[in-house]
Amino acid sequence: MNCFQNARRIVVKIGSSTLTHKSGHINIRRMEQIVKVLSDIRNSGKEVILVSSGAIAVGVGKLGLRERPSDTASKQAAAAVGQCELMYLYDKMFAEYNHNVSQVLMTRDIIESEQRKQNAVNAFRRLIDFGTIPIVNENDTVAVEEIEFGDNDTLSAVVAKLTCADVLVLMSDIDGLYSGNPRTDPAATLIPRVEKIDQTIESIAQGAGSSRGTGGMITKIHAARLATEAGIDMAIINGEQPQQLYQLFDGEGVGTHFVAVPNCGESAHDGSDRE
Ligand code: GLU
Repeated sequence: MNCFQNARRIVVKIGSSTLTHKSGHINIRRMEQIVKVLSDIRNSGKEVILVSSGAIAVGVGKLGLRERPSDTASKQAAAAVGQCELMYLYDKMFAEYNHNVSQVLMTRDIIESEQRKQNAVNAFRRLIDFGTIPIVNENDTVAVEEIEFGDNDTLSAVVAKLTCADVLVLMSDIDGLYSGNPRTDPAATLIPRVEKIDQTIESIAQGAGSSRGTGGMITKIHAARLATEAGIDMAIINGEQPQQLYQLFDGEGVGTHFVAVPNCGESAHDGSDRE
């Protein structure tokens, strides 16, 4: 059994470009597939927490804006519109499989005070105890520079730590971490396993993000560092193939596995937050 098969509590992050078409509208087929697989994984006994991007992208589509706005107020407004649509769809789709969802919108100041952090931990714990699938996003409508995480890769690692998850899975628009940029370099190969995040790994992760999300590979590497240093294994898999989640949790090697650092810092999943 590997760490993904053994995992009891999992955090899965879905990026905007996985969830939406280039038009900004929801990719309904993709979203349905992901919801179906996650519902099944939940049914198999694992606790699932979903970190979903897409609020701004969906809001842009819904408001009929020609492109993702660059000014803060328009991004905040687009997120407010898009987040409603996202949650409406998640609620409807997960309900088909008899699962309740809950919405958690976060800002960075939550983790900057012990008291607020503990409140968030308590809320997550209760939502999981109640059997819900928490769906987390940054509170993009009120988050401004001083209080924003900025990207959901980082947010998902923070959520994995807060909830003492066993593993974190980032569903991206690429198969995993490559030795080069596979979009421009045909010789680039997938790196299946990363034991240590060093300068070489960071330098090959440099590159542009997608047009519909915020993060590129570098934010995923930062998330991997946060997670693995807290004792949490992380994988990057291809969100365009939601079936890869089954493969991952069946113990098949898929995507890139970032191996948890043993005995490094506090173990995030020592079970102390679990009742
Ligand atoms: N929170 C943003 C949204 O929902 C996405 C951030 C990201 O792409 O990492 O639109």
